[in-house]
Amino acid sequence: MSSGGLIVFASPAGGGKSTVIRRLRDTHPDWGFSVSATTRAPRSGEADGREYYFLSREEFVRRVETGEFLEHEDVHGNLYGTLRPITMERVQRGETLIFDLDVKGALNVKEAFPEALSIFLLPPSREILRQRLEGRKTEPPEVVERRLSRADMELALAPRFDVQIVNDVLDTTVAEVERAIAARFSEQPLA
Ligand code: ADP
Repeated sequence: MSSGGLIVFASPAGGGKSTVIRRLRDTHPDWGFSVSATTRAPRSGEADGREYYFLSREEFVRRVETGEFLEHEDVHGNLYGTLRPITMERVQRGETLIFDLDVKGALNVKEAFPEALSIFLLPPSREILRQRLEGRKTEPPEVVERRLSRADMELALAPRFDVQIVNDVLDTTVAEVERAIAARFSEQPLA
């Protein structure tokens, strides 16, 4: 299959995926970014079709039943997934495509596209993960607790990723990510 390069990011919630990917978007406006669908409510500043496709639960489940999802997961009671038709179309066009996924979703996409580069962002410590989740102020304390309790299971899956990067100092993290991408795709320049 011809493809420009698929790069899959995962981490526990609060691990820094959105932050790192925002930096990549700024540096590489020509790269494509996969937009997941979710049943969670939009956060302020998020737009439908840009951060996520926001679907009702009924609509999401209907599309699961018609086989429209490449992968989907129930994460903390909300459904998240990658829509198959749009993804296949972009892959076939040879786009470079970045995925921001939960850990299990990322492993599923890697299974569907073994040539993808999978990157796991590790928090420097559990305490720092807690501080970042709390500092983000996007979810109430009980949701933070649920996310932290899922983190252990997610961290245990880190060795199944091609690359693991500790997200300590953001600039260093971004530089390491850029290096991993360049190394992986050096023989096959990115579109
Ligand atoms: P995710 O998308 O993986 O859930 P975010 O990108 O929202 O995580 O990051 C969680 C919080 O941690 C955000 O408030 C973000 O600004 C902060 N953060 C991310 N990476 C770093 C870093 N290297 N140093 C300090 N704070 C960070």
